[in-house]
Amino acid sequence: MTLPYVAPVDDVALALDVVGAPDVPTLTELLHEFGRFCAEVLAPLNQPGDAAGVGFDPATGAVTTAPGWREAYRKMVDAGWMGVSAPAEFGGGGQPAVLHVAMHEMLNAANMPFALGPMLTQGAVHMLVRHGSPEQQARYVPRLVTGEWAGTMNLTEPGAGSDVGALVTRAVPAGDGTWRISGQKIFITYGEHDLTDEIVHIVLARTPGAPPGTRGISCFIVPKRLVAPDGSLGERNRVRCIGVEHKMGIHASPTCTLEYDGAFAELIGDEHAGMHYMFTMMNNARLAVGAEGLGIATRAYQAAVAFARERVQGRVVGDEPGTPVIGHPDVRRMLLHMRSHVDAMRLLAFTNARAIDDGDDGLADLLTPVTKAWCTDVGAEVARLATQVHGGMGYIRETGVEQLERDVRITSIYEGTNGIQAIDLVTRKLAALDGEPVARVLGLVDATVDLLDGELASLREPLHAGAVALREATAFLAGVPAARARDALAGATPYLRLFGTVAGGWLLARQALAARARTGAGDARATVTARYFLGQVVPAAVGLLPAIRAGAADLDASEF
Ligand SMILES: Cc1cc2nc3c(=O)[nH]c(=O)nc-3n(C[C@H](O)[C@H](O)[C@H](O)COP(=O)(O)OP(=O)(O)OC[C@H]3O[C@@H](n4cnc5c(N)ncnc54)[C@H](O)[C@@H]3O)c2cc1C
Repeated sequence: MTLPYVAPVDDVALALDVVGAPDVPTLTELLHEFGRFCAEVLAPLNQPGDAAGVGFDPATGAVTTAPGWREAYRKMVDAGWMGVSAPAEFGGGGQPAVLHVAMHEMLNAANMPFALGPMLTQGAVHMLVRHGSPEQQARYVPRLVTGEWAGTMNLTEPGAGSDVGALVTRAVPAGDGTWRISGQKIFITYGEHDLTDEIVHIVLARTPGAPPGTRGISCFIVPKRLVAPDGSLGERNRVRCIGVEHKMGIHASPTCTLEYDGAFAELIGDEHAGMHYMFTMMNNARLAVGAEGLGIATRAYQAAVAFARERVQGRVVGDEPGTPVIGHPDVRRMLLHMRSHVDAMRLLAFTNARAIDDGDDGLADLLTPVTKAWCTDVGAEVARLATQVHGGMGYIRETGVEQLERDVRITSIYEGTNGIQAIDLVTRKLAALDGEPVARVLGLVDATVDLLDGELASLREPLHAGAVALREATAFLAGVPAARARDALAGATPYLRLFGTVAGGWLLARQALAARARTGAGDARATVTARYFLGQVVPAAVGLLPAIRAGAADLDASEF
């Protein structure tokens, strides 16, 4: 049994329209083609990859990807899909971030463990384009853009996870302008593999005499093979994979422990500025992880609908005997819950990408933790519902939905846990630019309320109530004095949930308005989706207000 996947290009095109993406017809055409590639080439490898996992040879440190992976990767590179949104001056297609996110939705829906490789390579491109020297850019970027070479991100160490500032990997000058790195990095996604001859590791390390914490971190390029001046690949560098993790999900994505033993390294930019460089990449990387939650959710939704249309069980009240379970109100409730959240996630991620494309840093900075955490938490909930719709078969390997539930779970944890995202939102992003971005979002929600009339009039009251609650919660958190900082931290996660849900409701209302404008009449799908979400999901999120205001007293009084 293979899990179905058809790229939902019409839905994606409507969402692009709603967020005002440029030249939607051209983007849609590209997505049609890319969606077909994902469905035909990558989706069929997802379940076999989960079963096969990756191979590791302790004697050589070599990692082999699952059967079919290398051929699929080659096809992706040959078709030119890797560099679509990379800058044109480095051989990329120069397409906007919003297309990048739309492509990531499809890539992750088809095969998330595969998608992680290109995602990290694109992260390395981003880092080098923004902060590398012209020589480094010439040496590495064009071949990363095409996908001929792959990239990685090396932050985590045994004693440094959420607290990156605790890292102890050392870099010492070699005397010729280059550096030598020693230390151990853990959990490095695609840290070693057989898809490319070269892997360009972006590594955070500490130089001699560096100040403690994040202020003393520098950022380096460490190639797996040394690159000769003519661009050819030379001897192996002194970096080696010493183990791969056995994980709950994403079995086909190698998660590596890398040992650096005096490895050749090039400093990126200035010494001690490594954390600053990482921060400039974070919006893109976190948005890409949000797109992982979205992608898995779209696949899970499609699988649930396909199964519910076929499976016959129980008399559907009000219908003939022998009709499938999709007729049961409780099954329909799950499907509409899934679909409305998929649409809301997509609209939020695209809005975030549009802010990046517009150079609207204030809005992009505000939305990024929300997109990352809300889309991944909700993505996991949607995957869980897909298993539920399948009944007992959902728990059985061959249907493929339990894999989605396992695979999506990591997205709430890596690239900054969702707890850390909520804290970032509450302690940094709300106060940024004197609160202008969050006030602007609330103003946009109010403006949408005013536009809802006719068959959309019933959306007014719940959207207004959501905006009132979000405004109240925001004012409350802004008013918590520094001496009671633990109270704000205690409310951070429910606040992010409220923010994401109200933003989702706002964007679904806009989608219903856009669909109406397109057809000139009410659009049943968009209207019903918005009505469900605003009528049933937003009120539950408004109910989080007491949790946001509760403070840390009971948490601190608890014995664990
Ligand atoms: C499959 C996989 C792939 C990965 N890929 C990469 C990669 O490619 N490159 C890379 O560098 N890393 C990677 N990571 C590492 C990942 O980013 C970290 O695991 C993650 O950042 C969490 O760090 P940690 O595991 O040390 O958890 P911890 O930091 O120990 O967190 C434990 C708990 O404490 C909470 N917590 C910690 N600090 C705070 C705080 N200040 N306030 C409130 N709560 C807090 C966390 O939210 C969490 O609930 C990967 C991990 C996995 C499992």
